[in-house]
Amino acid sequence: MKSIKKVIVLGGTHGNEWTGIFAIKKYAELLKQEFPELDLHFILANPEAYRINKRFKDEDLNRAFQFLHEDRPDSYEHKRAKELKEFIDQGPCFVLDLHSTTSHMGNTVIISHNQPLNFQIASQLLQHLSDTRIIVSPDPNKKYLASQSEFGMMIEVGPVPNGVLDAVALEGTLKLIKEVLRAVTTLTNLTSGPLEIYEEIEDVYYPQDDNGELTAYIDSSFNGKDFIGIEGEYRPFKSFSGEYQWRRTEEMLYPIFINEAAYYPTKLAFTLCRKRILNF
Ligand SMILES: [Zn+2]
Repeated sequence: MKSIKKVIVLGGTHGNEWTGIFAIKKYAELLKQEFPELDLHFILANPEAYRINKRFKDEDLNRAFQFLHEDRPDSYEHKRAKELKEFIDQGPCFVLDLHSTTSHMGNTVIISHNQPLNFQIASQLLQHLSDTRIIVSPDPNKKYLASQSEFGMMIEVGPVPNGVLDAVALEGTLKLIKEVLRAVTTLTNLTSGPLEIYEEIEDVYYPQDDNGELTAYIDSSFNGKDFIGIEGEYRPFKSFSGEYQWRRTEEMLYPIFINEAAYYPTKLAFTLCRKRILNF
């Protein structure tokens, strides 16, 4: 296998996720010095969204790549997606896209392409940063920025509010970046092995009335319990009139992105995952 030297690290794909933005703004030179054997590029993915401190200006950049073939002259992110895609397509590269979340996701990595190289890097992350979780989230329409190369992953660190610098999130992100870069530099032979992963199996939406308004919120017993296994009865919601709303699962499942601020517009409350061992 030919090793990959070019690594593109992107922060601010969502303009209000400051962790990744400050990671690339303030640590690029340090990381270039630490990994001189790599061809490292640090890019502020969505400068306009960062300027207005919003997730996006016209459309979500991390969904915009599925519309590249369309004509969208009024969308800033459409234009930006085209520019980024052109840069990524210049040659083999590893794309590392930095995100933060308002959910208690800890240090999480999301892989979309079933590439042994991606799994091998994830495996090294788990060996050196044992609190890392690996989510495998197939992206057949290639909507995500990190999916624009066969080799790449997203980093999701939280909880951290949007537009806030949080020490734990920033330092967790830096550790993950360094470990990914270390793994890329040491990848000469592909090895195989088992990898503990989470696979998304069901999106759960907030209870709503006929007008689409929420009728319940995430219950305190459930909030912040990302990656904590649930089996049997559990109560994710409490209605504004005070009743608990129960759900049931027949097998052990793991909720993620509980109460993520960015998902309220779609009324997505959390996603359920199954944990399994992937042999790559
Ligand atoms: Zn994000």
